Amino acid sequence: MTINENEKRVIGRFRFMNEQAVNLDGFATPAPELGLIAFDSPHDPLPSIVIRDGVVVEMDGRGEDAFDALDEFIARHGIDIGIAEEAMAIDSLQFARQLVDPYESRESLVRLASGMTPAKLAEVLARLTAAELVIAMTKMRARKTPSNQAHVTNRSDDPLLLAADAATAAAFGFREIETTVPVLADAPSNAVAVSVGAAVGSPGVLVQCSVEEAMELALGMRGLVSYAETVSLYGTEQIFIEGDDTPWSKAFLTSAYASRGIKMRVTSGGGAEALMGGAERCSMFYLEARCVALARAMGAQGVQNGGIDSAAVAGSVPGGVRSLMAENLMVMLRNLESCTGNDALMSESHVRRTSRTHPIFIAGSDFICSGFGSIQRYDNMFGPSQWNAEDIDDFLAMQRDWGVDGGLKTAREDDVEGLRSRATEAVSAVYGWLGLGDFTASWAQQAVDAAGSKDIADADLMLPVNASATIMDTNVTMLDVIAALAENGFDVEAQRCLDMLKARVQGDYLQTSAIFDEDMNVLSLVTDPNDYAGPGTGYKPSIARQAEIDTIRQQVSVDDLRVQQRQYRTFELRVIGTAETSHDPRDVVIGVSPATGRDIWQTLSGLLVCDVLEELMAGLEEEGCVGRIIRINDSIDLGKIGLAAAQLSGSGIGIGLQGKGTALIHRHDLAPLANLELYSVAPTLTARLYRLMGINAGRHAKSMTPEPMRNPYSDEAIEARYHTKVVALVAIERECSSNSASEMLEMVK
Ligand code: CA
Repeated sequence: MTINENEKRVIGRFRFMNEQAVNLDGFATPAPELGLIAFDSPHDPLPSIVIRDGVVVEMDGRGEDAFDALDEFIARHGIDIGIAEEAMAIDSLQFARQLVDPYESRESLVRLASGMTPAKLAEVLARLTAAELVIAMTKMRARKTPSNQAHVTNRSDDPLLLAADAATAAAFGFREIETTVPVLADAPSNAVAVSVGAAVGSPGVLVQCSVEEAMELALGMRGLVSYAETVSLYGTEQIFIEGDDTPWSKAFLTSAYASRGIKMRVTSGGGAEALMGGAERCSMFYLEARCVALARAMGAQGVQNGGIDSAAVAGSVPGGVRSLMAENLMVMLRNLESCTGNDALMSESHVRRTSRTHPIFIAGSDFICSGFGSIQRYDNMFGPSQWNAEDIDDFLAMQRDWGVDGGLKTAREDDVEGLRSRATEAVSAVYGWLGLGDFTASWAQQAVDAAGSKDIADADLMLPVNASATIMDTNVTMLDVIAALAENGFDVEAQRCLDMLKARVQGDYLQTSAIFDEDMNVLSLVTDPNDYAGPGTGYKPSIARQAEIDTIRQQVSVDDLRVQQRQYRTFELRVIGTAETSHDPRDVVIGVSPATGRDIWQTLSGLLVCDVLEELMAGLEEEGCVGRIIRINDSIDLGKIGLAAAQLSGSGIGIGLQGKGTALIHRHDLAPLANLELYSVAPTLTARLYRLMGINAGRHAKSMTPEPMRNPYSDEAIEARYHTKVVALVAIERECSSNSASEMLEMVK
């Protein structure tokens, strides 16, 4: 290896910092020329509107002769000209303040926003700080009850695994499930498998299959999916044209969905234009303001935005993450359903990605994530999401921490296993009945158990392709799937799928922000409007829902811990008399706490208390000393226990030991808190360290000065991991403590 002498050596502190995950992320110097700027590019237009004879003739500084396709569409269909002049005359800062004013109703703000141009709304929302965005989102989202959307995909397009994972996602509370394909030809099979799996999991879970637009619409028209989301909009004409599209073609597609009673929202998001080199020197936020205005103009139910695939581009510039949230708020202000991003993974850093999601999580949104990867990262065929199966327990813990409804709930393992079995059985029955393919028993078993597609050895990767061809060739519709379910004993699932078709005829779920609850009631802007107006108003989880949020499977009680401890009762500390003071200079007393060997048998490090005592005794013996075990009944304080032991001991040296494993060496003439040596971090202690403590205690007994013991290195969240146990163990110690005299003990294994 040659060393370049000109290369400066980086000092250790920076070498270490450079290795941290956040430094895998890209950070861009702002460059308005490239669209790499979150808010307020110097080239963004100033807000303006001129209306003549009921027609917008100038918008955002551009006369109608200079309108591009987006201006034209927005000016003709996206601005309420009856309100525009009033709305545009409002000072932007004043309107921004109204957004966080609890006495200013959502309805009045939505009404005024309908008359505002893209540049005006961009100017208004750029004025909100992060904290103000949280309050404004709490007030402005359309639906009162928050919800969440899952990705369910896998690398094999395995129908059994898709169905099992869809049922699992429903069990965890997701009310929309989005699937896609690594292989386009597999799409029809995926749509069927996920729809069946979702129906196994819960009534009323909406399903989409995000693929090429014509195929996606065809699946929707056959009833094989129940909503669509991935009709993409862009903020500049150039990008539209390069995609062989116009606002009119997108509007036509939107109408096609609506005409068949299919819920439909569009997708946009800041940074997309910069990523494709077509930002026209404008800020990400202004371009997104155009997209949202287009979405309103073309009659979509809602928008999935907040960066989406280009979230990392927005995240690379100053204020970018704030602009992602402001994008979502703009959708709400346009009175549309907001699917608030938190979709594509925007950072390798757990801290940054949590920071990006958290304000939206606490504010609440129609869908906190527009794609929580309910499957593992490697199986997410959209690419890893901001949140994935790896994070479900984190998300549930965050809900519990803040008492916040993030749309998810704890699922019991037994229930999930049952659902996964039933989902694989239902899909096997449907595929067999319709001649789509046959699954082996081992494949099905693996799918039930699998944490991801890597766990399935017996999948036939040709099956989804062949099944899809048959679905398309024989014109399989959801009615055929329902018949197959009903004919094979899956009446409940057949009914749930049929209910979804009926809902399309009724059309109530075409209202803004519509989802179904588990009783198939539509929750939407119409039936469940957000009425936040300051503290004590707005969404409050029901008592049952709050209990779901508060109760996670990992929580343990003192009684749980007592039962756990009982399993380790493999020895006895038998009382052989009352404790007496010794005059033998080799005598060292090991004072144990009240519950040791009564209700506590195992220390926090996993060592049995008897093994700890044996190591201490052996260490003393190595130094020619003799240990006696005495239970100190009248204190749970380790310093006092150690001191009491020292005062009973012939050498004047004592060891104090709590049942949880914390230990110290004490001397008869010291104050309780002034011990000689202390092992304070019980979870990290080993048999070897207790042996050393015995040895050192023996040396102190001989009036030597041994090298003090030290707690081992640790960078674990010891407190998070053990403090709840400590609280419970301390409670058990306290229950065992009494005024009884100290007792001489004998260990019997
Ligand atoms: Ca999505």
